[in-house]
Amino acid sequence: MDTNARLWTRLQAAVPRGVSVLLPVFAASAENAEIRDVEGHRYIDFAGGIGVLNIGHRHPRVLAAVQQQLQAITHACFQVMPYEPYVQLAERLNELAPGTAPKKTIFLTTGAEAIENAIKIARYATGRPGVIAFGGAFHGRTMMALAVTGKMNPYKTGFGPFPGDVYHVPFPGEYRGGSTAATMGAIEELFHSSIAPDRVAAVILEPVQGEGGFNVAPFDFLREIRTLCDRHGILMIADEIQTGFGRTGRMFAVEHAGVVPDLITTAKSLAGGFPLSAVTGRADLMDTVPPGGLGGTYAGNPVACAAALAVLDVMRDEDILGRAEKLGARVRERLVAMHQRFGCIGEVRGLGAMLAIELVRDRATREPAPDLARKTVLKAAELGLVILSCGLHANVIRVLVPLTAPLELTDEGMSILELALESASA
Ligand code: PMP
Repeated sequence: MDTNARLWTRLQAAVPRGVSVLLPVFAASAENAEIRDVEGHRYIDFAGGIGVLNIGHRHPRVLAAVQQQLQAITHACFQVMPYEPYVQLAERLNELAPGTAPKKTIFLTTGAEAIENAIKIARYATGRPGVIAFGGAFHGRTMMALAVTGKMNPYKTGFGPFPGDVYHVPFPGEYRGGSTAATMGAIEELFHSSIAPDRVAAVILEPVQGEGGFNVAPFDFLREIRTLCDRHGILMIADEIQTGFGRTGRMFAVEHAGVVPDLITTAKSLAGGFPLSAVTGRADLMDTVPPGGLGGTYAGNPVACAAALAVLDVMRDEDILGRAEKLGARVRERLVAMHQRFGCIGEVRGLGAMLAIELVRDRATREPAPDLARKTVLKAAELGLVILSCGLHANVIRVLVPLTAPLELTDEGMSILELALESASA
C-alpha cells in the first residue's frame, strides 16, 4: 500500500487542479460512519461523501443487493431492453413522493443530470422558457445546472455563457437579512421588470440550501411559492438531492411544510453510494415529452437501482426517519452548547439531522469567517474527523453524519469538532 504523500504527488501530476480535493489523504476502506486511509488512520465521517451516505458506508443490505444484481446483469441500457429494478424503483418513488396525483419517475446518473431533465420536462410541459432560481443555490456543474446555481465562485466564473431565461432572486435566509416577504416581492418585481409570469416554466429551489450554507427555507415561503406557481401555471421543482432520504427527518424536506412540488429531483443518498439520480413528478407532466426526448446510456443502471431498492428497505425497516430525529436532536444540542462557548459561532441552524454552524468574525456585524472555517475543517481532519464547510461565504460548517451512526460515535465526532474549533480560533 502506498503512502498518502506519494499518492498525493501522483494525484497532483495526473489530475487537473479544477477538481479541488479537501484532504491530502486517500480513502482505503469504510464501514458505516468510519473511514480508514491508506496508512490505516481512522476518521469519523461527518461528510458522507457529501450527503450520499444517509444509511452509512457499505450497508450490508445494500452490498447484498448489489452482489445479487452483479450475478444477474450489470448493464443493458434501459432504452434498449428494460429491466425490472428500474421499474420497481420508479414504483417505490412514485409511492413515496408527496401528493396524491399519479406520478412517474425517470432515472439518470448524477444530480446535475436530474436538474437538467427536470428543467427540460418543465419547459416542454409548459411550453415556456423561463426559470426562477435563488441566490446561494447549488444545482450542479453542467451548463443548465450552473445557470440555475446562485454562486459565482468557484462554480460559474469563466464558464459562461449559460442557457438563457434564468432569473435569480434572493433566498429568504433570515440570518443574512432575507425574508419570505422580501423574496416574494423580488419575484413580483421580476414579473414587472424582466419576464411575464406566463413565460415562466418553473421555480426551482432547495428546501434547505446545501452548498449555500444549510439555509432553511421558511415553511410559509414554500407554501407561498406553491400558491404563486398555482396562480400563474408555473411548475414548482424541489431539488431534494441533498435534503432527501431522511436527512431532515422526513423522506423529503418539503413534507415539513406540507407542500407538494410538481417535480422532485433526487440523487446522493438515493442509492447509498452508487451513482443514480431521479426526477419524480406528476404523471401528466412527465408524459408530455415524446419518446426519445429523455434518457441516457447509463441512466438508471441496474446495479444502482438494486442498491436504491435496498436503501429504501433499510429506511423502512431500521426507522431511519426516527433515527434522524434523535441524531439531529443530539447534534443540535452539542452545537448549541458550542454556540454558548464560542463567540465565533454566529448561528446554529438546520432541519432534522441537516445541521450547521455559521462562523463569523464578530457576532454583532456577522462578518463571515471563511478562514476560520477552513482551519477548523483541516484541524478536525488532523484529529480524525472528516467534516465539510459550505456557504455563499464559505464560512459554514455542516454535519452530514450517516443517520445510522451510533450516538457514541456521533458524540466522539462532535467532541473532535469542538476541539478543532477551539484550536483554530485560539
Ligand atoms: N443539487 C443539490 C442540492 C446538490 O447538493 C448537488 C451536489 N452537491 C447537486 C444538485 C449536484 O449533484 P451532482 O454533484 O451529483 O451532479
